[in-house]
Amino acid sequence: MLVLRNVTYSTDGRKILENINMRFKEGMSYSILGPNGAGKSTIAYILMGVIKPSEGKVLLDERDITDLGITERAKLGITLLWQEPARYDGITVEEYLTLGGKLNVDTRDVKEVLEIVGLPYELYCHRFVDRSLSGGERKRIELASILLLKPKYAILDEPDSGLDITASELIDRILGYLKKVGTTVILITHHEEIAKKTDFSYFVCGGKVVRKGFSDEVVEYYKRACGKCPLLEGMSDGH
Ligand code: ADP
Ligand code: MG
Repeated sequence: MLVLRNVTYSTDGRKILENINMRFKEGMSYSILGPNGAGKSTIAYILMGVIKPSEGKVLLDERDITDLGITERAKLGITLLWQEPARYDGITVEEYLTLGGKLNVDTRDVKEVLEIVGLPYELYCHRFVDRSLSGGERKRIELASILLLKPKYAILDEPDSGLDITASELIDRILGYLKKVGTTVILITHHEEIAKKTDFSYFVCGGKVVRKGFSDEVVEYYKRACGKCPLLEGMSDGH
């Protein structure tokens, strides 16, 4: 189980997260739902070890991992899909997905995960992961790499943003695959219909957990309590 215990994060004298408590149990799927600026990506960075909390702890199976960095956490099976996908000039999709052949997978596995993210292997395996791919294509390729890794924990920061209307089915396929291989999913989103696809949700606003529970209930609360909130205006456009 991955746990955030009493996590607070301040930067430049501003409190971004306040007393965050979250528990992610093995094999379950969770969403962190909230408007822009709520602190969702900051939570992802704290889980991945990109930044350290100002107060509080990160625990993995009761071990304190607060001081471990990204590489050490990756070795423990924690992965992050960044909100903004990266570019890797001069590296092909196949090289990227297999870590230059270091990952013990065969072409069949690469084909399978590319199919799940909606990219035909034959069209993409020799493409370069650079500017020639769109942001949405790079995001799909990063998602495919997480599927190939079969991590213990997959933190997906807005996997649906930057994708087109097929995103909903794509998220269904990804959640189905990760459930099958036993990965715990932490899906960050500001779309309630995406949050509904997970077992449990945390609704975060203003750096605090406002509500937690079964996703259906949290989404109902979010719609009821936040329908007229100015923070949520303009959020249906994918930004
Ligand atoms: P979300 O992912 O929910 O949109 P973020 O976690 O990216 O929100 O950011 C939460 C708040 O913290 C925002 O108001 C953002 O401007 C602020 N913030 C994030 N990182 C920094 C930073 N390094 N310095 C100052 N403010 C930051
Ligand atoms: Mg964010």
